[in-house]
Amino acid sequence: MAVLTPTVTLDQEINPWEAQSARFEFAARKLNLDEGLWKVLSSPSREVIVHFPVTMDDGRIEMFTGYRVQHSQARGPAKGGIRYSPDCTLDEVRALASWMTWKCAVVNIPFGGAKGGVICDPKKMTITELERMTRRYTAEIIEFIGPEKDVPAPDMNTNEQTMAWIMDTYSMHMRQTVTSVVTGKPLSLGGSRGRTEATGRGVMVACDESLRYLKMPIEGCRVIIQGFGNVGSNAARLMMEHGYKVIGIAEKDGGLFNPNGIDIHQLLEYKYRHNTLLGFRGAEAMPSEELILSECEILVPAAMENVITSRNAEKIKARILVEGANGPTTAVADEILAEKRIFVVPDILANAGGVTASYFEWVQDRQGYFWKEAIVNEQLETILRDSFDDVVRYAEAHNVNNRIAAYMLAIDRVAHTIKQRGLYA
Ligand code: NAD
Repeated sequence: MAVLTPTVTLDQEINPWEAQSARFEFAARKLNLDEGLWKVLSSPSREVIVHFPVTMDDGRIEMFTGYRVQHSQARGPAKGGIRYSPDCTLDEVRALASWMTWKCAVVNIPFGGAKGGVICDPKKMTITELERMTRRYTAEIIEFIGPEKDVPAPDMNTNEQTMAWIMDTYSMHMRQTVTSVVTGKPLSLGGSRGRTEATGRGVMVACDESLRYLKMPIEGCRVIIQGFGNVGSNAARLMMEHGYKVIGIAEKDGGLFNPNGIDIHQLLEYKYRHNTLLGFRGAEAMPSEELILSECEILVPAAMENVITSRNAEKIKARILVEGANGPTTAVADEILAEKRIFVVPDILANAGGVTASYFEWVQDRQGYFWKEAIVNEQLETILRDSFDDVVRYAEAHNVNNRIAAYMLAIDRVAHTIKQRGLYA
């Protein structure tokens, strides 16, 4: 297989926009993508940067910078989260916006891709400051968002309360309640049943399908999960209930290991009471960096970007890698994993359960009719199983790995839509 990336520095390796571009270019070349469409798809269609003031609790005025990047609206309204982080950059938001385009196309839902962010440190802000900042940011980008334009959702350091404030601000300007302007809302404000655990459920489906494809049993299948937040903890619980043996959980402040399997129900209760995993008696403590390199059948990075790089990919011992997080593996690490014949379920497929349930939320809000949780879960699982099948068949047909297959499938779908629509003017 051709080499994906030339020699790069670690800084370039972990730049998310570079990582996205490397995969895009490789997949586009394999697809023989028309040169014009290549140009259209290799950059975002709109990048909004806003600088805006917020009055802090002590009366001081602070200026904040926010972004909203829309990569594509070819297949439907742009869709993607908003993150609050001191390290948020335009390159990161750009990369995440384009990943959303590819992710929505892989699972074939009628959305394009977007992402937003505000540079701030939410841990140092009060709830009233966060509310004022959220409302002003919403007002600054208001003409670019909307149920038919661009539908935000929670991401790092934003949650259902943030979405409720955005929905309320938007509704005040529109002079009517518009619940479908955001997803990831509280249930009482038009949220969907099953949304909270949807990404973790999707990760489990990706694991089930990988085992089925590789003809490996669930019984005795050892799993290590990095991150015990929304994605990691829900995946861990659902997988334990489904018969997997979750032998390791790696968190920011340390890891836990038990070769006989960790009782995730007990661990969730422990975390709820102590706000940490440290000191849990049902497993031994182990440094997180060591834990993710331990022997297992499935490794699920479900914490953050750039966890598997040229520095550690060689040492990964898992047979299957299921990417719960966005961008956990760099393009350079991809090549090392491919040489080791590790079966990778890429992020744009493995964590697409979240955006798929968000699509259901948007549909329910527009219908004004809310589905039972069993219906949400059943529809979610059907879409994800079909998408897994599409990706592995594409990989076989084109003799590429699953990540490149997922990109090729997505780029092909988006390019086809653009061709059918034609270019205006
Ligand atoms: P979260 O904040 O709920 O959880 C992240 C967890 O990872 C936290 O418990 C945190 O302590 C832990 N963590 C942070 N740094 C770590 C480190 N260095 N080592 C080990 N653990 C570490 O976030 P989340 O919603 O679970 O999202 C996790 C990842 O999944 C992100 O990449 C996010 O973009 C992606 N994702 C989330 C969703 C969703 O629906 N929540 C959907 C798609 C993708």
